[in-house]
Amino acid sequence: MAWDGERDELARACRRVAGAGLVVGTAGNLSLRVGDHVVITPTGGVLGELAAGDMSVVDLDGELVDGELAPTSEVPLHLGVYRSQPLAGAVAHAHALASTAVSCVHDELPPIHYTILQLGGAIRVAPYATFGSDELAANVARALDGRTAALMQNHGSVAYGGGIAEACDRLELLEWHAELYQRSVALGMPRVLSDQELEDVVLAAIAKRYGTTQKARP
Ligand SMILES: [Zn+2]
Repeated sequence: MAWDGERDELARACRRVAGAGLVVGTAGNLSLRVGDHVVITPTGGVLGELAAGDMSVVDLDGELVDGELAPTSEVPLHLGVYRSQPLAGAVAHAHALASTAVSCVHDELPPIHYTILQLGGAIRVAPYATFGSDELAANVARALDGRTAALMQNHGSVAYGGGIAEACDRLELLEWHAELYQRSVALGMPRVLSDQELEDVVLAAIAKRYGTTQKARP
C-alpha cells in the first residue's frame, strides 16, 4: 500500500492523542503532508482504534487519491493550514476539554506562563463557523498567523508542526495552557505576562538554548 510509513505514523499519533485524553470517540482528526499529498484520518473513525490501512490520502485540492474510507469532513481545515503555513508538515485537531471550554468564553488565551511562547504567544480564538466549512478553514488560517496553534470558537483546538509528533506536542501544550488558565481563574484573576517579560524570555531562551539538552560543564 502506498504511503505505508506515513499511514502507520499517523495511526500511532492517533493512539497517542486518544491515550492522552485529548479526543473522545470519533472527535478530532490528524493529517500529515507528503509532498503534494496529505495522509489524513477517515471520517467517523474512533481515533484511538484506527489502523494504518484506515487512513485516507487526498491531494492538495482535497480529492481522494488513495484509501478505502472517506476522509474526515475537516479536510478544508487541514488544507487551509498547509496552504497558509509553509512550515506545516502535519496538523492535529481535537475537541480537547479545557481548550474547548476556553474557546466558548474568550477571544484569546492570554500568556500567563512563559512556555506559551513555544506556540508563538497569546493564542487566538478563530471565530465560529460550521464544522467542515471553508469559512472555518479561513478563520483558523487567520488565527494561526505567527502562531503554531489556535483555538476554534465553541469547537476545539488545532496545532501544526513540522511532523505529526510536533503537531501533537503542541496540541498537548495548548491543552495544558487552557487547563492552567481555567485553574488560575478558579483561584482569582491570573496575572498576564507583559510584552517586555515575554521579550526577555525570548532573549534568555536564545542565550541559554532553552529546551535543548546540553553537556554539563565540569
Ligand atoms: Zn472538530
